[in-house]
Amino acid sequence: MREFDYIIIGGGCAGLSLAYELEINQKLKDKSLAIIEPREEYKRDKTWSFWKVIDHNFEDCVKKSWDNFTINIPGNTKHIECKNTPYQTIDSGLFYLKIINTLKKNKNINFFKNINEVDIKDSFIFNSLSDNHYDKSNLWQHFSGFEIETDKDLFDDKIFNLMDFDCDQKNSVHFFYTLPFSKKKALIETTWLSDLNNNSLQDYEKQLKDYIENHLNIKKYKISFTETGAIPLFDLRNEQKINQINIGTAGGMTRLSTGYTFLNIQEHSKYITKNIENIKNHKKFTIITKKYKYLDNIFLKVLKKNPEKMSKIFFKMFLSSPSTVINFLSNKSNFFEDIAIISKMPKWTFIKEII
Ligand SMILES: Cc1cc2nc3c(=O)[nH]c(=O)nc-3n(C[C@H](O)[C@H](O)[C@H](O)COP(=O)(O)OP(=O)(O)OC[C@H]3O[C@@H](n4cnc5c(N)ncnc54)[C@H](O)[C@@H]3O)c2cc1C
Repeated sequence: MREFDYIIIGGGCAGLSLAYELEINQKLKDKSLAIIEPREEYKRDKTWSFWKVIDHNFEDCVKKSWDNFTINIPGNTKHIECKNTPYQTIDSGLFYLKIINTLKKNKNINFFKNINEVDIKDSFIFNSLSDNHYDKSNLWQHFSGFEIETDKDLFDDKIFNLMDFDCDQKNSVHFFYTLPFSKKKALIETTWLSDLNNNSLQDYEKQLKDYIENHLNIKKYKISFTETGAIPLFDLRNEQKINQINIGTAGGMTRLSTGYTFLNIQEHSKYITKNIENIKNHKKFTIITKKYKYLDNIFLKVLKKNPEKMSKIFFKMFLSSPSTVINFLSNKSNFFEDIAIISKMPKWTFIKEII
């Protein structure tokens, strides 16, 4: 069996982002890398979106970028501008293609379907798999979306809708999310924040059809792509091993109150690459600092106990200045911005959870 200097377990978003960052920074000229990935082929499977608060390597994979968005609760809509930190959507198909085309030029990089095909004894491992990924009783952001195409110009592609809470909540937290890629094409997702035990929340197709046909009033459309997924809103467990760093969602890169992960993965990849020569001795990378972990923990406790209050809580959060709320949700806020967000929260509901 072949030995490698580095092994990446899981060639998904985090594994490939790291391999790409290492490659473009010439860190794999004299080092070998094995990527363990069981999938047979790479094709578009996800749509990664985020406010662009930092530069990243994938500008050429951006499907669409917006400077404006809305958030709705029944009877009220807030319009928010985000020109300085546009909201970008990455097409995972383009992302995979760009990275695979770059990696295959380097003979030191090899793909394998199974970890048993390589000798892991003396390698440094970057692992994107976790031990408790299937804990259904915990809190998840679970969702499904249709990308639809219409004959007529029905969407305003200058503005996207981040959260539309004007829908059945079923004693949970539920909203629709609409990304208009053009006047005739949009991705519409139904999103729940709940455990995965309640099957009645998971008739996504019915929810989407009902929203598109009766709420958006679009009767004639073609579904060109579907996306279904679940992001764990709890820390994934992983046995700590020497010579191993966990990456991606399994490495704690998901912001638990929002599910946003993509840019955190990019920052982690840059940190590992910068310190790769002596990575064993470098301190653990923390992008989601104790401050955010503490605040998110309280937020999620409030969410679990008071799902009926959450639409108003999210809405009020967005009454802060756009840069304040975007920085806060993207882990880039300063002390004053944190206070501004905290001051918008209903005091007693949160204090009860702190106590
Ligand atoms: C549908 C969806 C949409 C999302 N949208 C957003 C978004 O808009 N913005 C955002 O910031 N975040 C988003 N996320 C969250 C997060 O960015 C993604 O989940 C991201 O893909 C996480 O990267 P990862 O490398 O940790 O996991 P993955 O990308 O899932 O990679 C894990 C890889 O491991 C492979 N694998 C599985 N089993 C094995 C095995 N036994 N051995 C080796 N490899 C294995 C898988 O095939 C996969 O390629 C989304 C998540 C999902 C599921």
